Amino acid sequence: MTNEELQKAVKILLAGGLVAFPTETVYGLGAVSTNDKAVASIYELKGRPSFNPLIAHVDGPEMAEKYVEVTPVARQLMDAFWPGPLTLVLKRKASCPVSYLASAGLDTLAVRMPNNPIALKLITGTGIPIVAPSANPSGRISPTTAEHVATSFGEKAPMILDGGPCSVGVESTVLLATDKTPVMLRYGGLSVDDIEALIGPIIRPEKDPDAPQSPGQMKSHYAPITPLRMNALEADPGEALLGFGPAPQAVLNLSEKEDLKEAAANLFSMMRQLDNGKYTGIAVMPIPMHGLGLAINDRLKRASYKK
Ligand code: AMP
Ligand code: MG
Repeated sequence: MTNEELQKAVKILLAGGLVAFPTETVYGLGAVSTNDKAVASIYELKGRPSFNPLIAHVDGPEMAEKYVEVTPVARQLMDAFWPGPLTLVLKRKASCPVSYLASAGLDTLAVRMPNNPIALKLITGTGIPIVAPSANPSGRISPTTAEHVATSFGEKAPMILDGGPCSVGVESTVLLATDKTPVMLRYGGLSVDDIEALIGPIIRPEKDPDAPQSPGQMKSHYAPITPLRMNALEADPGEALLGFGPAPQAVLNLSEKEDLKEAAANLFSMMRQLDNGKYTGIAVMPIPMHGLGLAINDRLKRASYKK
């Protein structure tokens, strides 16, 4: 990668565009984490039928500390294993400007410092964490070379920074580290033995049926406390109408011009704004079932599920 390519990539990212870049695990499809629309473009290009939370890539613990609450055990893990294939899920700071779409509406954010010079230069270049899932269309094999990225996206491929083949080739280990004893969320490139050698036993859901939070039980998806109903044409008394398309009665509008990317970008922050205790319900207008509409409807359906 030349310095010119790096500068160009930084410019694209800061303007809200996407750039594919190498990490030691797999190639990532990156966007600046604070830009809702840029994050929505990731889901659009990958064609994911649902919104999974993304990993925010940082250039070190100091950057992470600006966005999430770094617990003592998280700090210990960062000092020992960063840069490297260890992702830590931590509580977002109250002031955290990262898009709620990147957290899939949750109060937590996954952070990782990749061990790849190109990735690190890119993050330092923007000065903002870069969210990046694997750079492949949904359902395809994770890319470990620049060529995989180019061929899997074809004409739609974004700018790709070529850093040669990835050295680890498997995804990062994901730990929930908001409490004293971390919980394994996903096995990956860093072994559990290495982690336990440093901090002692962690909670492994498959071994520990009483684990307070196994991934299966984890409320890994945000649902508002206020009841939500889909495909509403108007609001009942007391309800807030969340609009899509022209809707003078809407309290908030996902996208007046019926732009699905804009709607995806606004989805979680608007649900949160309306979930403020002032309304008896949130009535969401119909969202078409194509493109990003599939993921939006999937999320609304989960949010409207009656407990
Ligand atoms: P990938 O981007 O494909 O490497 O996947 C990211 C992994 O991290 C997925 O398994 C996510 O479910 C997990 N993850 C990311 N953010 C969170 C979060 N806030 N809470 C729990 N799991 C997360
Ligand atoms: Mg993937």
